[in-house]
Amino acid sequence: MKSIGKGRPFGPPAPSWGARYHCRDFSQILRLGGCRGVDRLSPDRRSWLMSRIRGTNTKPEVEVRSMLHGMGYRFRLHRRDLPGTPDIVLPGRGAVIFVHGCFWHGHVCKRDKMPKSRTVYWAEKIEANRRRDARKRRAITALGWKVVIVWECELKRPEKLAEKLQEALDDWGG
Ligand code: ZN
Repeated sequence: MKSIGKGRPFGPPAPSWGARYHCRDFSQILRLGGCRGVDRLSPDRRSWLMSRIRGTNTKPEVEVRSMLHGMGYRFRLHRRDLPGTPDIVLPGRGAVIFVHGCFWHGHVCKRDKMPKSRTVYWAEKIEANRRRDARKRRAITALGWKVVIVWECELKRPEKLAEKLQEALDDWGG
C-alpha cells in the first residue's frame, strides 16, 4: 500500500484524498480540522471523512448504485431492519448487495499490499472485518436473502461487473 506523504500509511488512498494527514484518528481530524490542526478540512473532504466513518455512501457504493440504476433495477438503501444494514437492497429480487472496499475487507487483490509498518495492527483489524462480514452474510442468508458482494476493484471493469450483477440478480427472482 502506498503511504500518504511522509507519514504512516493511513488506509487506502481515496481519489478525493488531497491533504497529507499523518494521524490515523478520524475523530481527531474532524475535531481539530486536520492533524494537529495543521490541515483544514474543506466541506467536501469533511463529508467524505464522515461517510468513511459511517461507512455509507462511499464512492464505490455510489458507483454501484448508478450502475444498477442504469441497468433498470429498483433498489433501496441501508435498510436497518436487515442484519448488517446492507448497502443496497433489491426487494423485488430478494437480494442484497454489500459494496466492500478491498483494503478494509481484506480482498485477495490486496493480500500482498499490506502496510509495511504496524503490520500486525492492520492484519488483525482486517481479519476482524472479514469475520464480521461473514457473520452478516450468514445472518442475512438465513433469512432467505441472496447476498451479492461487490469489491471496489471490480469497478475498474464495469462491463464485467455489470455482467456479474445481472447474472446474480436475474437468476434469483426473474
Ligand atoms: Zn479487490
